[in-house]
Amino acid sequence: MFRLSRYMKDLVATPESAATPQRRPVLLGSGPVVIWNLIRRCNLTCRHCYSSSADTDFAGELTTAEVFRVMDDLKDAGVGVLILSGGEPLLRPDIHIIGARAKALGFYVGLSSNGTLMDAAAVGAIADTGYDYVGISLDGMRETHDIFRRRAGAFDASLAGLRACRTAGIKTGLRFTITEHTARDLPRLLDLAAEEAVDKLYFSHLNYAGRGNHNRAEDAHHRLTRSVMDTILDRCLADTLAGSGREYVTGNNDADALYMLRWAEKRFPARLARLEQTLRRWGGNASGVGIANIDNLGIVHPDTMWWTHALGSVRDRRFGDIWADTSDPLMAGLKQRPRPVSGRCGQCRHLAICNGNTRTRAYQLTGDPWAEDPGCYLTDAEIGLTAAPAPRIQVLPFGATPRPAPITGAASLSGLTGGEVRP
Ligand code: SF4
Repeated sequence: MFRLSRYMKDLVATPESAATPQRRPVLLGSGPVVIWNLIRRCNLTCRHCYSSSADTDFAGELTTAEVFRVMDDLKDAGVGVLILSGGEPLLRPDIHIIGARAKALGFYVGLSSNGTLMDAAAVGAIADTGYDYVGISLDGMRETHDIFRRRAGAFDASLAGLRACRTAGIKTGLRFTITEHTARDLPRLLDLAAEEAVDKLYFSHLNYAGRGNHNRAEDAHHRLTRSVMDTILDRCLADTLAGSGREYVTGNNDADALYMLRWAEKRFPARLARLEQTLRRWGGNASGVGIANIDNLGIVHPDTMWWTHALGSVRDRRFGDIWADTSDPLMAGLKQRPRPVSGRCGQCRHLAICNGNTRTRAYQLTGDPWAEDPGCYLTDAEIGLTAAPAPRIQVLPFGATPRPAPITGAASLSGLTGGEVRP
């Protein structure tokens, strides 16, 4: 997760007003940010959903009492931020009881929703619960969004939900997944965010997991990604200079930080060294370290895109014990610094900033979680490769089984295939 508006603010600040952005603001606590998929059921079936949700109940989900007990464990593990998600979390009848309990325990609590179920009663309950932030997903303007969400009228319903939250004084944000089919709507979506005075924009690069995996061919091409990032950076700069206070965050591609560095080279040459220094402090991809995921069955994963890899169940072990356990080879590698990455990532001069980006993508395409990230859209020159790059990864057709990867360095692959939690 790259909070680019934080770095943009620092770029344009006067020397007197500049405050060095910190990797972990105090409110985050010492533990990871936990994205908690409390329910898998969803009233929509979005094309890029990582959890392959459906409008049906799933058996074995955590009960209210279990959620409460796990929350105590999370508190003990130093977790400060909970993002309550789904499926569609508003379909869980006890969602606001859970939210209220989380607030009472002192967590920063976000609610991540598709927004379509936010009628007056739901928004009233959201306001009463006191969520710190509500994120609503829009994947473009009306036509594009409804196609992606596979529901006519979904855009209007989500926008109405967003407006109702804003009217109720709730901090709101828009979540936008970038693909080659949604990218063309980005400028109008940015306009909409300004018109609706949303507090935050979250841009997610399409990752290769869940239903997104089947749509791999729809991922934005690298050139398009660069163009999208130019648009986001330029708009963020304009917003920052105008003092809007709107936050811009990107996810699922930590190379965005390097792209911002390259973007700033021409515009803020005198601030470049400082930006590079602060980005090093940020440190790039945080899966398995600063970001955690608990799924609807209580299985812990290194992040939301690693649902194929189970670290353990909060029904069997305390969260803090699961999270600290580096006997799991993937977790050992994710927590290692630098990570044991190979290919372009291993040779990249910016590894200390990016931290090897999104390991799920490498694993999904090659079977090796430490291979280079195929989602990196920087050129060889931009990552400082002077010699011939390592052989490119083998791109497999849909449904093909990744070939076994060689066991290298501190991390092996043992255990990576034993953690399936999905049928
Ligand atoms: S080559 Fe790898 S480490 Fe370097 S910027 Fe790209 S994804 Fe990040």
